[in-house]
Amino acid sequence: MDEEQARRWLATAVDEARAGLAEGGIPIGAALYGADGTLLGRGRNRRVQDGDPSAHGETAAFRAAGRQRSYRGTTMVTTLSPCWYCSGLVRQFGISRVVVGEAETFHGGHDWLAEHGVEVVVLDDPGCVALMREFIAARPELWHEDIGEE
Ligand SMILES: [Zn+2]
Repeated sequence: MDEEQARRWLATAVDEARAGLAEGGIPIGAALYGADGTLLGRGRNRRVQDGDPSAHGETAAFRAAGRQRSYRGTTMVTTLSPCWYCSGLVRQFGISRVVVGEAETFHGGHDWLAEHGVEVVVLDDPGCVALMREFIAARPELWHEDIGEE
């Protein structure tokens, strides 16, 4: 896909991540875009805010989009490489494309998605990397809780 477009869409996910950080949450945001470029839903990790470990950025954006007849041609944009749970969501519903802000601070399932026919665009966005690095340094226990590591 067009990289400029991917970066414009990433800005929506970054806004969500920053809003999550301001709420005391984990700064991971996401947005689901339709095949025609319409913003279908956006959301952020809400583990802290809702006390819900299953409320990831991608699932929040997916749920905000409501029922869709088909996910063909849709794009999940996320600030961070998607975890296995969210990678599973992408495959379960047949989301066609994933735009990843960065995969440096966490390497999730994006290679696996690419191997299974999902178009994956990793933007290596320095702003996304800095956001996660600062968060992990400030709140290591919260980060490890989120990724399920001791
Ligand atoms: Zn996830």
